[in-house]
Parts: sequence; structure tokens; C-alpha cells
Amino acid sequence: MSRYSKSEAWLIRAESVIPLGSQTFSKSRTQYPVGISPLFAKNAKGSRLQDLDGNWYVDLVNSLAAITIGYGDRELEKAVRKQLAKGVIFSLPGKLEEEVASLMVELIPSAEMVRFGKNGTDATSAAVRLARAYTGRDFIAVCGYHGWQDWYIGSTSRDKGVPYATKSLTKSFKYNDISTLKQLISEFPEQFAAVVMEPMNVNYPSDNFLEGVRDICDENGIVLVFDETITGFRFSTGGGQQQFSVTPDLSTFGKGLANGYPLSAVVGKKEIMREMEEIFFSGTFGGELLSLAAAKVVLEKHKKQDVCAKLTSIGNDLKFKVEEIIRDCRLEKVINLSGHPTWVFLNWTATEDYSVEELKTFFMQEMFQRGVLILNTHNVSLAFNRKDLKIVLNAYSETLQGLSRAITSRNLREKLTVQPLIPLFKVR
Ligand code: PLP
Repeated sequence: MSRYSKSEAWLIRAESVIPLGSQTFSKSRTQYPVGISPLFAKNAKGSRLQDLDGNWYVDLVNSLAAITIGYGDRELEKAVRKQLAKGVIFSLPGKLEEEVASLMVELIPSAEMVRFGKNGTDATSAAVRLARAYTGRDFIAVCGYHGWQDWYIGSTSRDKGVPYATKSLTKSFKYNDISTLKQLISEFPEQFAAVVMEPMNVNYPSDNFLEGVRDICDENGIVLVFDETITGFRFSTGGGQQQFSVTPDLSTFGKGLANGYPLSAVVGKKEIMREMEEIFFSGTFGGELLSLAAAKVVLEKHKKQDVCAKLTSIGNDLKFKVEEIIRDCRLEKVINLSGHPTWVFLNWTATEDYSVEELKTFFMQEMFQRGVLILNTHNVSLAFNRKDLKIVLNAYSETLQGLSRAITSRNLREKLTVQPLIPLFKVR
């Protein structure tokens, strides 16, 4: 019987009523090949997740980087339960909205005012509307991933269903290549409302790239938006803007803001944020109180202790040791790690015989088997401890030794028990 038989049976049930069997693309079978993957979770605690079949994993996905503190943090749960007894949502705004907004203003360099949403996409889309209203321009320059709405996803290869008119207003530029942004601006002078970008993802900024983007925005009357959905409360409390000392006009937060509770925010300069009163960004659940109660605890934790310094040290420890294993297995040309220690990327290179997808699928198959849930990044949380490290390093060591042998013996395909992953749209 398959190690994942309950998950696989559940997928058939789920897919009969839910397209793809999941609400989130990155949690679906498009990322977790059926036959080698745990497809559904039962519960999670601290750094670990249990699948439907009862297998436990050290979780390096951490709910797509939403979990920074750890699953089921006691202090957080206590605050949420206390709020639950009072109410989840009211007919009028609750006091927590101001309390969490004030904490954000205190902790985030660019934050003078704050509005909440539920998903990162709410926040990035609100920032785009705000920038368009503020500047009276329509074009948006993007760099990174910014969610599922038309204005952004239309600029990727996954653009089905997005009208051409919308697609034509969003233009991509390359990270660490300022000339690509300059080129866009010279092609469409005085037409860009905003530059929306992740302050960093796969690589560190080089050659004063972020400062250069800031200058270009200032010179051209463009609103600079940092999308800190992942980097916020992970790289440093105030995100990439704090880490790299470049302050955007607006920025967006989500994920780690409430350690997995559905909350996002757009924050920024008063002068621009006031325009919120004129545009329409409004939702029934925007001021939902359980997530705000969770966020208040998270933000107070960031105030009391250097959460991100700890995350960085945990992430570095893991990164350095994995790099050692890669070297020991002589796989430096096949896989290397990059990015911030709290959000490390695994970069694969095809070999003479095998595609990136084949290599990745083998890697996942072996890591899952050994109790490590991993996609293409290490998204560590504070709950990741010495025991977890041992499990992960052991899994890496056995998996990469196996990979090295399979590449040398040219028998990797025989070792794959499923079809390899299908390449999907790439945005980072
Ligand atoms: N921006 C970034 C940088 C993200 O990583 C994501 C999600 O992964 C989003 C925006 C969209 O957030 P959500 O999926 O919560 O809508």
C-alpha cells in the first residue's frame, strides 16, 4: 500500500467537487506529484505537519511562508480564543483595527497609515488602484510575484481569462537590471503610476539596485510600492525596506503579519493613503478580529524580541550545512542555494541527461519519504529546532547522495516512481 494512500483517495473525493482539489495553486497536485507526495494535511504543531496518512514532516514550506513563529503558538492561540469569546466580526469596526495599525506604523519604516485586507493580493491590488488614483496614470511596472488579480497575473504566462486591455497596462522588468526599468519608462513616458516589486527574492540587490529604482520613481513621479508579502516580518520586522534602508511610498504585507491568520495590509505615506477615502477598497471581512488579535500578538513579539534575527540565524545554520552536503556530494553544478537565510531558494540546473523537473521530482520524492516537506525554498519558522535540523540534514544527505549516484549511473528515470513535474509559469 502507498505511504500516501489516504491522501490519494481523498484527492479523488476532493477533485469531484473542487477544481484541482485545492484553493491554492501551490498546495495542489501541480506542485506535489501524485504518488510521491502527501496531498492533504491533518494537523500541524510547532515546526511539524501531519498528513492524512499519519506521516509527520518537518515543514519547510510553512504554509507558503505564512508561518514565521510556528504552528499553534500558545500565546497566539490564547489571544485568538479570548477574542473569539467577544466576537469575530461586528456591524461596526473594532478597536483592534487601530491597535494593530498603530503597531505597524511604529514598526515599519514606510508606514504612516494602514488599511487591512485578507490576502496579499488584496493589498497589492489596493496599492495599484491607489497609485493610479494618486497619479492619474494607468501603467504599472512589476518585478516578482504579486498575486492572482488581473492587473498582475495578466503579465505572466498564466494569463488566461485576463482581457488584453488590462494585460497591456502591466509591464515586467528584471531584478538587478536597472536598464530594463529605464527602458520601460522611456518607451511609455509619464504613463507609469507605480513600480510594484518584491524588494528581494532569489538574489540580493546589487549595484545599489533598490536605490536606483527609488531615484527613478522620484524623478518620474512614480509611486514606489514594495511588495513585502513574504519579506515583511521575515527578513526583518519592517521587511526588505528596513533591511536595505530604502523606503518605498507604499508597501504591502500579508503572510507573516498574523502567522497564518488571514490578514494583509497596505501601508504608506499619509499623502497617498488619504486617497483611500476617494477610491473603493472595502470588504465585509477587512476588519475581522481573530486575525487582528493574532497580528497584535505577532507584532508584540517582534517588539519584545528580535524574531527576525533568530529566524536568520536558524536559516543560516540550515543553509550552511546543506551547502556542505551539496559539496560533499559534488552536486554544486546541479543545485545551489541563494536568497535570504529566512527564505532560501533551491536553484536547479539541468544535467546532460536530466531536466530540472526530473531532478526536482526525484528530490521531492526522497525528501518526503524521509519526513521533510519541502518545495523549492526553506521557509523557516522560530519553531525549527535542533531535532528538526538533524532530520532535515539526514534527509538531504541521503537524498543528494542518491541523486549523485543516479546522475552518475544514468538511472535517475528508473528511480522516479511518477511522471516528473510539469514546468509551470515562472515569476521569480
Ligand atoms: N505578493 C507576494 C510577494 C507573494 O509571495 C504572494 C503570495 O505568495 C502574494 C503577493 C499574494 O498573496 P496571497 O496569495 O495571500 O493573495
